[in-house]
Amino acid sequence: MIEMQDVWKNYPDGTPALRGINVKIDKNEFVYIVGPSGAGKSTFMKLIYREEKPTKGQISVNGFNLGKLKQRKIPYIRRNIGVIFQDFRLLPKLTVYENIAFAMEVIEAPKRLIRKRTFEVLELVNLKNKAGNLPAQLSGGEQQRVSIARAIVNNPSVIVADEPTGNLDPETSWGIMRLLEEINFRGTTILMATHNKEIVNTMRKRVIAIESGTIARDEIRGEYGYED
Ligand code: ADP
Ligand code: ADP
Repeated sequence: MIEMQDVWKNYPDGTPALRGINVKIDKNEFVYIVGPSGAGKSTFMKLIYREEKPTKGQISVNGFNLGKLKQRKIPYIRRNIGVIFQDFRLLPKLTVYENIAFAMEVIEAPKRLIRKRTFEVLELVNLKNKAGNLPAQLSGGEQQRVSIARAIVNNPSVIVADEPTGNLDPETSWGIMRLLEEINFRGTTILMATHNKEIVNTMRKRVIAIESGTIARDEIRGEYGYED
C-alpha cells in the first residue's frame, strides 16, 4: 500500500536527506523507523504525508502515485493519512472536542456525522470527560491522546507518527503505544519514527533503520540497534 522506488530527496539548500530509497509497506503493518539524528527519518515520513516532494523517484500510497497527483486530489490523500507529532500540535484556543471535530470540518463532513464520530474517538482514547477542556489544561499524555484522536477521526488507512512518545515519561509512553497497537489491530497501517529503544525492543515489529539517507536495515521483528 506504500511503495517507494529509488526515492531521492535534496532540500533546496542542497542538503541531501534521502538517497535511493526502495521500500514496500503492506496494509496493516506496524513499522518502526529508527536511525541517528539527521539520518532522514522525518524526511521519509514527510514524503509519505506529502509535506515534501521527492527530488527523484516514485512514491505511491494506496495505489495513488504521489508525484502525478493533481492538486485537487491532495486533500483526499491527506485525509487518508493521519499524522502525529512529538509536540502534539493542537490548536490552543480550541477545546479538545473542537480540535478533533475541526479535522472533519475541513473535509466538509456532515455536522451530525462530525458529532457522532468525534465522541466515538474521544471514547476510544478515553477522554470523553475532557471534551470541553483546552489543551493547556491537559497532561502531556492526554494531549497526545487528543492528537491521536484527531489523526484517526477521518478513518485514515495510514498513521504516520514522528516521535510520538518523545516528550512523554515512560509510563505515559506505554499508554500511547497500547493505543497505537489497538488502532493497528483495528486495521490501520502505522509508521512510527522513534528513538525509544525500550519500546522497539519490547514490541518486536518490523524495523527499518535509516542511516545517511539510505536504508541500512529492514527486519521483521527487528531491534532498535543503537546505544543512544
Ligand atoms: P531525522 O528525522 O532522521 O533526524 P531529517 O529527515 O530531519 O532527519 O533530516 C535529514 C537531513 O536533512 C539532515 O541533514 C537535516 O539537517 C536535513 N534537513 C531536514 N529538513 C531540512 C530543510 N527543510 N532544509 C534543509 N535541510 C533539511
Ligand atoms: P502529568 O503527570 O502528565 O504531568 P499533570 O500533573 O499535568 O499530568 O495533570 C494531571 C491531571 O490534572 C490531568 O488529568 C490533567 O488533565 C489535570 N490538569 C492539569 N492541569 C490542569 C488545569 N490547569 N486545569 C484542569 N485540569 C488540569
